[in-house]
Amino acid sequence: MEMEADVLIVGTGIAGMYSALNLREDLKIVMITKSNVEECNTYLAQGGISTARNEDDYDIYIEDTLKAGTYKNDIEAVKVLVEESIENINKLVSLGVKFDMDGENFDYTREGAHRVNRIVHCSDKTGQKVFEVLLDNVKSKKNINIIENACLLDLITSDNKCCGGIVRIDNEIVQINSKITILASGGIGGLFKNSTNQRTLTGDGISIAIKNDVEVVHMDYIQFHPTALYEGNSKDKRFLITESLRGEGAYLLNNEGDRFVDELLPRDVVAKAILEEERRTNSEYVFLDITHKPKDFIINRFPLIYNECKKRGIDITKDKIPVTPAQHYFMGGIKVDTDSKTSMNNLFACGEVSCTGVHGSNRLASNSLLEGLVFSNRAAECINRSIDDIDCAKGKINIKMVQDCDKYNKHIIVEEIIKARGDMKNELVGC
Ligand SMILES: Cc1cc2nc3c(=O)[nH]c(=O)nc-3n(C[C@H](O)[C@H](O)[C@H](O)COP(=O)(O)OP(=O)(O)OC[C@H]3O[C@@H](n4cnc5c(N)ncnc54)[C@H](O)[C@@H]3O)c2cc1C
Repeated sequence: MEMEADVLIVGTGIAGMYSALNLREDLKIVMITKSNVEECNTYLAQGGISTARNEDDYDIYIEDTLKAGTYKNDIEAVKVLVEESIENINKLVSLGVKFDMDGENFDYTREGAHRVNRIVHCSDKTGQKVFEVLLDNVKSKKNINIIENACLLDLITSDNKCCGGIVRIDNEIVQINSKITILASGGIGGLFKNSTNQRTLTGDGISIAIKNDVEVVHMDYIQFHPTALYEGNSKDKRFLITESLRGEGAYLLNNEGDRFVDELLPRDVVAKAILEEERRTNSEYVFLDITHKPKDFIINRFPLIYNECKKRGIDITKDKIPVTPAQHYFMGGIKVDTDSKTSMNNLFACGEVSCTGVHGSNRLASNSLLEGLVFSNRAAECINRSIDDIDCAKGKINIKMVQDCDKYNKHIIVEEIIKARGDMKNELVGC
């Protein structure tokens, strides 16, 4: 079966949906998602979205991002991220997102390695609230069609030009021919035994890129979040305890009841300190303690965490929360420029699947959703300007190759991760 689109978007997280909303309304857009629309990391985001507070904050915000990223960031991309943050947050508000307010101003919160409070949030359900608004807006557009349970297996290419994708929809193989393809297929956490990510996110966009000789970079830049809820050997995704708990004053304690690290240092430093403390005290977790804050504040500010912990028998207003690091984010990915163009013509990538270089080797908290907004908007603007000059070329599918695609795609990315991070072999599912 064949379908035609001007733009094929792979993924319905923040990057996929925001790019769709910023594309011209005369373009026929097909969005696909591997599972149901909600099953994306965007929906899970808790803490919030970073933004410059005003122009005076640009330099400090740039420096905070570079410092957390151990100065391995792409400086041009960081400037774009920071300088376009305010307009994109305002656009979210105009689409209908209701961030928590402090009077007339946003109720900015703080997370590790930010020197000032500059994170906008919707209590601790920011991802869900933003996702719901974006989805409502997408659904209201006649030119956008979302197909669920539609898994990209491969790209259709010809002479380093992308002409669409090969997609399994339910059990049928469909060739979607498109002038432009945007990969917004998210991260790699589903490949790890312990991860905060949706289990379905297995780096498909990255393996498909590698398979088609699209340039990928920094396969070793894998971030562990310091504080995922400790739940023994559960095979499910790990429940995150957002960094803004520490931003609002929670302490990290070892099992002797002592603080052992400055809670607001960058993620990589705090995660390392926790692992060292666990080894030293022969424990599988440490504790996060916010019990010294007023009960009402905790319940109103962190309703999701309060309820999820309560379900598991932990009352965070009275009990310390057992936490341990878990895989959380991938800073590497498909190499893109500041318009989200990949090394293949007519192929764009944005969101966690891409590497703009903004995060360096360690992402600053709450910079991911912002990256998804800023760079998917730039991709859309670039496509709006150039798509009229592109012909929809047709490629051919190799049906034999498609049969075993899932296994093959997984094999490719696992090999690449092991090559880059041999020390993580035991962390990967099935290795
Ligand atoms: C628990 C948690 C909390 C977080 N909190 C924050 C936070 O507070 N602030 C922040 O900035 N960041 C946060 N992050 C990170 C952030 O949520 C993600 O990096 C971001 O949402 C990624 O957006 P995305 O659009 O790139 O991908 P996602 O939202 O993950 O969406 C990926 C999409 O691609 C689709 N897909 C994947 N493979 C295929 C395929 N083969 N075929 C078709 N579709 C496919 C999926 O179905 C999905 O629709 C958090 C992450 C987690 C896991």
